[in-house]
Amino acid sequence: MLDVLRRVIQEVNAASDLTTALDIIVDRVQQAMGTEVCTVYLLDEERNQYVFMATRGLNRDAEGIVTLDLTEGLVGLVGERAEPINLDNAPAHPRYLYIEEVGEKPFKSFLGVPIIHHRRVLGVLVVQQKEARRYDESEEAFLITLSAQLAGVIAHARATGELSINTGDGLPMSRFVGKAGAPGVAIGTGVIVFVEADLGTVPERESRDIKADIRLLRQAVDETRREIREMSEKLSDRLRPEELGLFEAYLHMLDETAITGEVIERIEAGQWVQSALRSVVEQHVANFEAMEDAYLRERGVDVLDLGRRVLAKLQTNEERRAEFPENTILIAEELTPGMVADVPRENLVGLVSVEGSPSSHVAILARAMDLPTVVGVEELPINLLEDKPVIVDGFQGHVITHPSPEQLELYREVVRQEAELVKGLEHIKDEACVTTDGHRVSLWVNTGLMTDVARSLDRGAEGVGLYRTEIHFMMNDRFPTEEDQRVIYRQHLQAFAPRPVTMRTLDIGGDKALPYFPIEEENPFLGWRGVRISLDHPEIFLSQVRAMIRANEGIDTDLRIMLPMVSSVAEVDESQRLISQCYRELIEEGVEVEMPDVGVMIEVPSAVYQARDIVKRVDFLSVGSNDLVQYMLAVDRNNARVSELFQEFHPAVLRALKSIVDAAQAENKTLGICGEMAGNPVAAILLMAMGFDVLSMNATNLLLVKQTLRSFEMARAKRILNKVLKMDNAVLIRDYVEEQMRKAGLGQIIRTKTLG
Ligand code: PEP
Ligand code: MG
Repeated sequence: MLDVLRRVIQEVNAASDLTTALDIIVDRVQQAMGTEVCTVYLLDEERNQYVFMATRGLNRDAEGIVTLDLTEGLVGLVGERAEPINLDNAPAHPRYLYIEEVGEKPFKSFLGVPIIHHRRVLGVLVVQQKEARRYDESEEAFLITLSAQLAGVIAHARATGELSINTGDGLPMSRFVGKAGAPGVAIGTGVIVFVEADLGTVPERESRDIKADIRLLRQAVDETRREIREMSEKLSDRLRPEELGLFEAYLHMLDETAITGEVIERIEAGQWVQSALRSVVEQHVANFEAMEDAYLRERGVDVLDLGRRVLAKLQTNEERRAEFPENTILIAEELTPGMVADVPRENLVGLVSVEGSPSSHVAILARAMDLPTVVGVEELPINLLEDKPVIVDGFQGHVITHPSPEQLELYREVVRQEAELVKGLEHIKDEACVTTDGHRVSLWVNTGLMTDVARSLDRGAEGVGLYRTEIHFMMNDRFPTEEDQRVIYRQHLQAFAPRPVTMRTLDIGGDKALPYFPIEEENPFLGWRGVRISLDHPEIFLSQVRAMIRANEGIDTDLRIMLPMVSSVAEVDESQRLISQCYRELIEEGVEVEMPDVGVMIEVPSAVYQARDIVKRVDFLSVGSNDLVQYMLAVDRNNARVSELFQEFHPAVLRALKSIVDAAQAENKTLGICGEMAGNPVAAILLMAMGFDVLSMNATNLLLVKQTLRSFEMARAKRILNKVLKMDNAVLIRDYVEEQMRKAGLGQIIRTKTLG
């Protein structure tokens, strides 16, 4: 059975349109189950009806024509209950609905299973028999398993405009749902970036120069042939002649009568060389994988390997993209900070990442750069969006492709309103953040790039609560020297002087990799991260701390050094020892500097429980709520599938935060928070009420948070906090605080879901 399942899925995956895919499904299920009828009904979301899409055994003339309301018939019942219905005598069931055009009169037994993707019913898969008998458990299990796997394939197929239910005039407008990564709306043109030598991510593009593309292909194929011959020669004394024959087979596959010829045909038809190669290789792989013979199935892997080799050559021979259109919307399977950095800032208006979540680092970078961003848009047909019109709705987390003129107008209006809201707040940028009853909170910013500096100062930042030093490390091709670092840090300190600047020591590992210092781990978020690496490599840590302290010489600014990912007091003690060593050495060298304040990030549950022990040893604490939520709730901050569970308002998180405040206050030390939570106006009310002294956030949200807190009484915020600390549900907590904000006249600041 497993074999049949695998083959059906592969065939469906390789289908070029929805009709073919559905035909394959009904055909193969009918055969595999030896049943008389198999039918797929799909939900047409616009009309709110099930459409009789494909059948074997019933009337095929009714395909695409007959529809059922959501509450109609047994099909409707399967959808309503979201569970299988297995009947030996369907016509006797009260919900049975007889539709003449379909021709199901003679069939008694009925088994319908829902096709569900991400909790949404996409359709219903039905098998029927004349004989009045219940389908047995193994048949039911087969259909459920198949349907669960097909759901993803169908969702993806329907998401690509070509495969929509309402086929017809070109690509229709489509809306894809992801997560809001950075607020704002961007209207522009899709540009796809992809990981090199990965065939799956090569975008669909038209050839700009057919002759040049064919030349590049032939050159890449020749180089690949040479490589294969060399491999064969190297192994010739270790392999038997029949094994060496494999290399010959490889070479034949590359002939102009085989793969190369097919790729050339596609290029001549106007396809770009890399996407032509992808299409041909994918087609061959699918053909091999659908074969009965296990040996031949395995040959699919060989074709894929060949394809990758040729692609790698093509990519080294072809120049990297140098031009980006105005209003570029950068789209990738998984966007990285490096990809973003490749595009000139003036051309870039928005970002879309199929993978990732709002707490991924690329989303954090996007917020810092004021770039509307949507992440975790799993259904996005990325290969089809090159040079196509796209809208990024970073408020709601939607991506709209091929927008209609009405949608464009609607979103242009949102852009206008947003600009007005920001303009309306400009007058408070130099005002202090004081509540109506006189409580003062410091609003600082998170930085990483020099471009953040001007924007931060422009929005009235009172200090830097988190300077992510690793961004500078990530943009280099080797570890920066102490002097490289000193220069960069000094620019930062000078720009903000006399405001305090908190420099975090290197926080790599997890999802932040340095190209020149690869770390291979099964479970990187629970592995070698942050201060753990610094303590294992004191030479890197010492040079960074020296650079920080030296950078501050002669500048009238409070430098604060902050340690990330601390999970025990031993790490604090050891770091303090090394920082003191640096300071002593610098004094001996004649550098005239003050000892900086040293602080610890609280972002691991163990540090919450030891907050009091930790804070006794340092000058300040700052909560890294992004990681704290990730580790407390066991929710990967980069995994779009569980991003609903990444809840900053989770009661456990709020109670943990309150206990950190108690620890810091008991020792009379300053407490800040520099995770994304601090920049959320709704959360900021609770954080202020708890007693956080400093909220550090991306500059984009600074004025929104300031406006919120300036409109509130501290006494009222405390009443709200007392109430929510007794509540047990994150969603209700958030709703309650939002309601209180609306009552305080702050409705506009809460991004309500106004567009549909
Ligand atoms: C955090 O974890 O909240 C934090 C501020 O650090 P980063 O997002 O860089 O991991
Ligand atoms: Mg962190």
